Amino acid sequence: MSSVKSIPPATELQDKIYINGEYVQAESGEWYTLYNPTDDKVISSKIPVAGQADVDNAVNAAQDAFYGPWSKFTSAQRGACLRKLADLLDEDDRLVKILTLDALSTGNPISIIPTREKNYIMGQLNYYAGWTDKMRGDYFPADDGFVKLVRHEPLGVCAGINPFNAPVATLIMKTAPCLATGNVMILKPSENSPLGSLAIAALFEAAGFPKGVFQVLTGAGTTGALLAEHMRIRKISFTGSVATGRKIQIAAAKSNLKRVTLELGGKSPALVFEDANLDNALTWTVNAILARSGQVCVAASRVYVQKSIADKFIDGYKERMKEAVKKIGNPLEESTSMGPLVNKAAFERVSGMIERGKSEAELVVGGMRHGDEGCFVEPTVFLNPKEGAEIYKNEIFGPVAVIKTFETEEEVLALANDTEFGLMSGVFTKDLNRALRISALLESGVVGVNCISSMNVQVPFGGKKASGIGREFGEYVGTMVED
Ligand code: NAD
Repeated sequence: MSSVKSIPPATELQDKIYINGEYVQAESGEWYTLYNPTDDKVISSKIPVAGQADVDNAVNAAQDAFYGPWSKFTSAQRGACLRKLADLLDEDDRLVKILTLDALSTGNPISIIPTREKNYIMGQLNYYAGWTDKMRGDYFPADDGFVKLVRHEPLGVCAGINPFNAPVATLIMKTAPCLATGNVMILKPSENSPLGSLAIAALFEAAGFPKGVFQVLTGAGTTGALLAEHMRIRKISFTGSVATGRKIQIAAAKSNLKRVTLELGGKSPALVFEDANLDNALTWTVNAILARSGQVCVAASRVYVQKSIADKFIDGYKERMKEAVKKIGNPLEESTSMGPLVNKAAFERVSGMIERGKSEAELVVGGMRHGDEGCFVEPTVFLNPKEGAEIYKNEIFGPVAVIKTFETEEEVLALANDTEFGLMSGVFTKDLNRALRISALLESGVVGVNCISSMNVQVPFGGKKASGIGREFGEYVGTMVED
């Protein structure tokens, strides 16, 4: 087992990819520049773009590990490696340091790291560490003279392709169940957030995983496409936009029909009924649109409020969104709760949608750039969107909410379901029967009752409709093994 002390500092990792247990230069010889969205300054001009030779090298090393040393690990040994990885991340605040690296380029505030973010990642690792020796197959009676056994077997080389918004959390979400079930993982972080994924890589060998079991390739869509098309990769676990998800599914179908799990976008509705605890509904709905500056797939971007309480709710909502402006700032300062959007392209896209929104709905809070440098956008609220309004229909991926009123249950259900997405919803009511009735009728992978955007490692997570295919978290993530 290699020493943890041998892990190079992340500043030395920025021109390397991680293959077969080593930080190496990419054979492609291509690089891109990573910017800090807080001040538009360059973080690194030498992040590698992994090319075909690099992908092939990673696949070769992954196969060697899968058929070689890794295949000899017992389920208990796999669990011990995952637990050791959790210990190493906890020790000396390594995880906090790794997550802070990513905050430089994602704009995620470091104030969420020691609590929410860390607990979430540790929870995933410990949960799947405990799962390695709990997997069972099945058995059927020998009525015809033959006993039939159903075995679950690992797929082999899997690839994870991640979005920028929670780089290490999504890395662990995909990798922990993948390795728990005996597979090996090649991980491609988003081009906007490569640093934490690179920094964590060497910890895998230090935790006892053989080299080649976990590897990191940096690069943008071209690198992701090479993984999606690869004939020897057996599964892609993708989290990102619907547009990219479609391309990955097509590439998978055109190559070796590899399995895909797609965790895609959302336009999550919160349904607030007149009997709801208003303070609770306000807390959840506002937090769920401001977290990571609205750059979360489960952001509560559509809020429906029953007419009888609309004035009171909307006043409270506006107040809290205005208050949030005071906590916008440099994500590396502890007092900040909302940082910038991830990059200039995102800033321009969101600003454009807000501008067009001004003629599609009534702007009641925000609607402007925050400050005069960096990619900051004010928390923004629109009311009463026109039919077909872009801000109401499309995922914005920014701190922008649209509020609409309703009178009846039937009306709000029809409104909430009138979307291509189906990831997350929230129902706010004290009436348990209504909560259960509506939960069953919402076309949504997850429904929160008196909460929204809440996720838990034991509970399957994923989308209906265009929000995705397959599930992550809990035992349903068993799609990582043959079934
Ligand atoms: P994105 O689709 O632009 O990129 C995601 C990843 O795909 C990146 O690593 C990118 O390099 C890669 N990629 C781009 N083109 C590719 C191609 N042709 N083939 C293979 N890979 C390719 O998404 P993003 O902007 O990083 O993230 C935002 C999106 O992610 C939003 O739509 C959000 O809702 C979604 N998201 C979903 C979940 C979920 O769990 N459902 C979680 C977080 C984010």
